[in-house]
Amino acid sequence: MSRSEELFARAQKLLPGGVNSPVRAYRAVGGKPVFVARAKGARVWDVDGREYVDYVGSWGPMIVGHAHDEVLAAVHEAAARGTSFGAPTELEVDFAETVNAAVPSLHMMRCVSSGTEATMSALRVARGFTGRAKVIKIDGGYHGHADCLLADAGSGVATFGIPGSAGVPAGAARDTLTVAWNDLEAMRALLVANPGEVACIIVEPIPGNMGVVPPAPGYLAGLGALCAEHGAILIIDEVMTGFRVAYGGAQALYGLVPDMTCLGKVVGGGLPAAVYGGRADIMAKIAPLGPVYQAGTLSGNPLAMAAGLKTLELLRRPGTYQQLEATSARLCDGLGAILREGGIEHTTNRVGSMWTTFFQPGAVTDYASAKRSDTARFGRFFRGMLEHGVLLAPSQYEAGFVGLAHGDAEITRTLEAARAVVKAGI
Ligand SMILES: *Cc1c(COP(=O)(O)O)cnc(C)c1O
Repeated sequence: MSRSEELFARAQKLLPGGVNSPVRAYRAVGGKPVFVARAKGARVWDVDGREYVDYVGSWGPMIVGHAHDEVLAAVHEAAARGTSFGAPTELEVDFAETVNAAVPSLHMMRCVSSGTEATMSALRVARGFTGRAKVIKIDGGYHGHADCLLADAGSGVATFGIPGSAGVPAGAARDTLTVAWNDLEAMRALLVANPGEVACIIVEPIPGNMGVVPPAPGYLAGLGALCAEHGAILIIDEVMTGFRVAYGGAQALYGLVPDMTCLGKVVGGGLPAAVYGGRADIMAKIAPLGPVYQAGTLSGNPLAMAAGLKTLELLRRPGTYQQLEATSARLCDGLGAILREGGIEHTTNRVGSMWTTFFQPGAVTDYASAKRSDTARFGRFFRGMLEHGVLLAPSQYEAGFVGLAHGDAEITRTLEAARAVVKAGI
């Protein structure tokens, strides 16, 4: 028995499925999860001493690479001054100013500890501000695991085919409406059918939790116009895309000015930090300024602020996003060529350093088309890559992440692995 198998057996006795987050259990791809001992740059080592090129990147945050020396130094320095106070700190002010400079639509913001907390709180504020109850989300869009946001929620949920989740009372889901991605007319119809009742539309600007599915030209701007017309708030969930597809996130990439934005993952630099915020008149509704309550013992935690600030500083260095684009293009072009040569039907969607290779020939423009993918073939590809030392996200409906630590050696090794896996047959 390998050490990973040993640990997995022990873990399953105390942790449901042996994990603390469901997709880590590898159920969608078969096999058992590898237990990680350590990581550095773009490489991960498991407890059996095997080395992998990593495209999971903690599911997005590790854009500057694992255990980056400067991030570690910033965290150590912060830790030496104390790990949590329950009182405001200078780091939180620096952090908010840095995030505001990157994402100017965040006129005011609040720090929380996870993406789930950010979207859940943003929704509460949107409802408190508008006095309306209904929220619209996208079929296959994922915004964390808050009760009212689990309907048709992609990735982990999609992978297991659970329609929403057990344990969510009908009342919590009643006010959640879902509609297909990239279908502006359907969105308009939904708003018209619920006049004066919709508090907000929440979308991932580039959905990454049904696999990567970019917005059609004009779609996001169209959502903004519809929200303005119907008095609803547009919440852009940039937990995955923020500081990922551009320093200013997808809203910088597409020239969008949303009412509210959620950030997470990269913004915490691998520690638990997330952000929600937006228009000052909306954010003025939050306690202690207003009647909407939201709080957190570890919110704005100094270690997380320090890791986030240092990560953003590293991302501001010149050429960063050009490098991410070039590396990711080389990877996806290479993978595409290998799959084509092997006669394997596939469609690759990529925006900057996030991508998904769907095992199907057709264009993937929404959740319905994403779901036509051959997930059994993805599972065989995933397991082959793992055997050859490449760690991919263990589900067809996830994004892969390239970071600044992925260099020529990593891409070459990945493509060699893919060539061997395709040659052996998937
Ligand atoms: C990961 C993710 C979340 C949830 O963030 P957690 O930190 O896992 O709670 C929310 N929205 C999007 C778009 C995400 O990718």
